[in-house]
Amino acid sequence: MAEIKLESVAKTFGTFTAVKGVSFTVDHGSFFVILGPSGCGKTTTLRMAAGLELPTAGRILLGGEDVTALPASARDIAFVFQLFALYPHMNVRQNIGFPLRCQNYPRAEIRRSVEETAKLLRIDHLLERRVGGLSGGDRQRVALGRAIVRRPKAFLMDEPLGALDSEFRKLMCGELRELHDRIDATTVYITHDQLEAMAMADRIAIMNQGRVEQIGTPQEIYDRPRSMFVADFIGAPPMSFLNVQAALQRGDRSIRIDGVPVEMPEVFEDRAEGTFALGVRPENVSFSDASRLRARVIGAEYLGTTQIVTVVTGSGQLKARLPSGQPVQVGESVGLALQPERLSLFDAISGQALPSALDARGGHG
Ligand code: ATP
Repeated sequence: MAEIKLESVAKTFGTFTAVKGVSFTVDHGSFFVILGPSGCGKTTTLRMAAGLELPTAGRILLGGEDVTALPASARDIAFVFQLFALYPHMNVRQNIGFPLRCQNYPRAEIRRSVEETAKLLRIDHLLERRVGGLSGGDRQRVALGRAIVRRPKAFLMDEPLGALDSEFRKLMCGELRELHDRIDATTVYITHDQLEAMAMADRIAIMNQGRVEQIGTPQEIYDRPRSMFVADFIGAPPMSFLNVQAALQRGDRSIRIDGVPVEMPEVFEDRAEGTFALGVRPENVSFSDASRLRARVIGAEYLGTTQIVTVVTGSGQLKARLPSGQPVQVGESVGLALQPERLSLFDAISGQALPSALDARGGHG
């Protein structure tokens, strides 16, 4: 079993704490993505899991064994950071076999493992070629081959596709995920690209300033963000927020926007008073002449099959994703219909989703 578990792991550099008590479990065979903006502590977390950095506090377990103090070489983990890091003077066979030669594997076993790995990556026809002359994609497959040839317990990947243009990234994302499934790997993958994370992950941990904001499946994180940070980080365009002053009573099921009651996904379980942010995804807004919630159109962006229309209400701006065939005039007044089961409510000061809402939806991830 290659379950990876981090328990309250922290890392301080001098007086700066880069990772502040991170906990998560990566199940055997799953593809786990750590997603977050630059500097949030993703790489430091992964380096601790790999044994390249010693945690200041907390424990790391690999397959149930406490490996916190073990060096990287004793962890049976492959760390992949830039798939282009190949030895240019060697051919494909020598590059893939390099980790096994370093560990003095018998020659026949190296040969067999390299050929098996090359076949898996569909580069067996390139084994005698120098890596210098290969296409970007094939060079990446060789680098992956070097990581998987010794069949480690787990793969830790730090933005491995970072240097590629977006078209090629998409292709390699698909290949990486397929490879993970074929070899029954356990993978932790770092990225700052939400689309990459959503496309590849079984589960995502979203980090912000050294902390994990939320852990969940891509759909849980998209549908039930636990904080405004997560809601804003996920989705293109991201969730819009309306400012609401309210006094919520236990048992209420609606909130007033510009004096108009808007139905919420569940009843409020606690009294709460103050400033809230109502989170609305663009695809959950439509125009409805019958609605008393009025807005003015201030812009429209054509995207082919859909258009993103920006409207302004008395409580702030919203973005709506509408069919591109729907006629929209900048300056016109429209009624808004919001899909109740898809709304989120946050405390505008703390940025956290209202606990009552999360409890009712089981979204503690
Ligand atoms: P990026 O996507 O830019 O790589 P990241 O989320 O991976 O960012 P880390 O590389 O883990 O973030 O860095 C987190 C913070 O810790 C940053 O502010 C960084 O400057 C700091 N940091 C990382 N390594 C060290 C170090 N060896 N000494 C001091 N500070 C460090």
